[in-house]
Amino acid sequence: MTAPGSGPARPVLSVRGLRKVFGDHVALDGVDLDVHEGEVVVVLGPSGSGKSTLVRCVHQLESVDGGAAYLDGELLGYEQHRGHLRPLPEARVARQRRRMGMVFQQFNLFPHWTVLRNITEAAVKVHGQRPEEARRRAVELLERTGLADKHQAHPKQLSGGQQQRVAIARAVATDPRIMLFDEPTSALDPELVDEVLSVVRDLARTGMTMVVVTHEMDFAREVADRCVFMDRGRVVEVGTPQEVFEAPRSPRLQAFLTRFA
Ligand code: ADP
Ligand code: MG
Repeated sequence: MTAPGSGPARPVLSVRGLRKVFGDHVALDGVDLDVHEGEVVVVLGPSGSGKSTLVRCVHQLESVDGGAAYLDGELLGYEQHRGHLRPLPEARVARQRRRMGMVFQQFNLFPHWTVLRNITEAAVKVHGQRPEEARRRAVELLERTGLADKHQAHPKQLSGGQQQRVAIARAVATDPRIMLFDEPTSALDPELVDEVLSVVRDLARTGMTMVVVTHEMDFAREVADRCVFMDRGRVVEVGTPQEVFEAPRSPRLQAFLTRFA
């Protein structure tokens, strides 16, 4: 498998023929995807179509059974060794993972830590930022996410929407090359969805490169540079939001969209 091209047009993230099997179930059946600098790619698709598996494989939370993913042209999870690919040592996988920020449906904040510490801990301990610098950035991020008065709060004192905003700030604080969102608003009460989407939208405006799995169709239309429609482990259709929403070509995408009409 050759690495994608170099130079300014090289994608931040490239996925090539990615395959993932659970038992006899093919969750990813040869997925290709490029995400370029500053691009927002929204992944749509019915439940079970492989969206989470895709981002989890990219983030190396799952092993892959075929194909490859590259971050800035660097193969993720494997290295060439005497003409073969062999898995990278754990420490190097960890280093690659640190270049990506991931936000899940569940916020996974540390309950015993303040909001501020939730954001700064990894930035300092794992990414080697100086404590005062990490703190300054965290304060700035909390202002940007509308949580300026919550530095010393603990997660359980916050709403789900506020916790998810902290989780986003935590990921952004480590200066990732790409942000991966897996249905960041699906666990929230409906009235809390917008405050989280608006943080994701603001992040997109700052030029952050992002992959966002979501069922929020209005958000996808507005924020996506490209939409990817997955079904049964494959990318069935890719296009601008206008192409995907106004002129879906495949019957499966047409059927999917009628559910949100
Ligand atoms: P989506 O996020 O689009 O709803 P997933 O990526 O979670 O879909 O799942 C794709 C398919 O893989 C589904 O059929 C799901 O049941 C299966 N799957 C996902 N994770 C596992 C797992 N850890 N073990 C077994 N099957 C799994
Ligand atoms: Mg999912």
